[in-house]
Amino acid sequence: MKRILNFERISVDDGNVCRHCEEQLRRAYEKLELAKEELEFLERPKRSIIVSFPVKMDSGKTRTFTGYRVHYNDARGPTKGGLRFHPELSLEDVKNLAYLMALKCAVVNIPFGGAKGGIVVNPKELSERELENLTRGYVRAILDYLGPMKDVPAPDIYTDEKIMAWIMDEYEKASGIHSPAVVTGKPIELGGCSTRAIATSLGGSYVMGEIMRYMRLDKRKLTVAIQGFGNVGGNIAKILYENGIKVISVSDSTGGILNEEGLDIPRVIKHKKGTGRVTGFKGANEITNKELLALDCDILIPAALSDQITSENADDVRAKVILELANAPINVEADDILFEKGVFVVPDILSNAGGVVLSYLEWAQNLTGDYWSEDRIVKRLKEIMTTAVREVYGQCEPLNCNMRVSAHYLAVKRILRAEKLRGNFV
Ligand code: NAD
Repeated sequence: MKRILNFERISVDDGNVCRHCEEQLRRAYEKLELAKEELEFLERPKRSIIVSFPVKMDSGKTRTFTGYRVHYNDARGPTKGGLRFHPELSLEDVKNLAYLMALKCAVVNIPFGGAKGGIVVNPKELSERELENLTRGYVRAILDYLGPMKDVPAPDIYTDEKIMAWIMDEYEKASGIHSPAVVTGKPIELGGCSTRAIATSLGGSYVMGEIMRYMRLDKRKLTVAIQGFGNVGGNIAKILYENGIKVISVSDSTGGILNEEGLDIPRVIKHKKGTGRVTGFKGANEITNKELLALDCDILIPAALSDQITSENADDVRAKVILELANAPINVEADDILFEKGVFVVPDILSNAGGVVLSYLEWAQNLTGDYWSEDRIVKRLKEIMTTAVREVYGQCEPLNCNMRVSAHYLAVKRILRAEKLRGNFV
């Protein structure tokens, strides 16, 4: 098989190529070889579905909406990924997110492929009844491609457990079969998992624990700064605080707070609940988000938005380790700068995979009808996350690469191996 180096451009006239995925593959593999056939295969999702469907509005009129669902790869299991309701959603975004889900599931070695989907809509403009009609209409439109052993959605931006319950109900009405495993992130009463709300942060804390061990970082002396204080940032701050780790700085969209002696996180949470922001907290100095990213600390955790560390500010970073809990908080140029500086970056597809791992445990319980204790769920989450860290870290030295390249490499090799075992590649 002819092998290519440095992702020599392949001419394609196939509209299903994911341009972002192509770019990321190029980035992860610039030092490694990938067969031309493999690259051609990986830069395209298996299936991109575009649907249009009518929805009855409260006004008595009908509006037609556009929905997407992309199944990136299903060689390792049913496709898995969130459902997003957003007015600016594009098919290219959905393809890219589905690709990342495929990698994420493969890197933590759970039996899922990757998917993503959504509807082009501003859900804030809809009444509850319209939202329900919209959700049910989407399910009917993609019904042939949905199912516990086909494709399993989960909540994402502007979708929640109530929407997941409607998806399950509509699917069950159409199929005539009780099928809680068709969707994850459901209410607990319908087969959901109690640990879900904190799963991404808890998973991230297990990844961090492993990295601390490898780097011989002493928990008692450790300092952590966290950008973002929402679901992920707030929960990781709480988990670290409860484990005796000093969180010196946190921030939200209004700015950051810093106390080098360590913040009293339960009090910060109370303050945030009361005022809607972390700034204004007594017992800390105020800093900007830019200053937070440049703090002299051991571990920096971006847990807000993408593209926060770029070529503009990568040189200012003084943290030893960056744990990416947000999706893509570091852009391509910054990644190279940080690598040169010796900053140890733990990539998003590994660090923030705790949420999808918990989805897997919810799905497995729904399929078997055997519901686990919280202790058992947390133990399994930890086992899966720490195994994945060991596998990714263990490859860095033999491959002479960083954690990001190693994680992508491991994931892509697992996907290709599954395709080869199925006889789809020689
Ligand atoms: P969230 O909306 O609950 O919280 C986002 C936080 O970021 C808020 O505190 C907000 O104030 C802050 N923020 C917004 N703009 C900011 C800015 N300019 N500077 C600093 N902070 C800013 O979202 P979340 O669920 O916590 O998700 C955070 C990130 O983690 C996102 O990138 C998301 O894609 C990623 N992620 C989340 C999950 C999950 O389970 N929720 C799973 C995987 C990845």
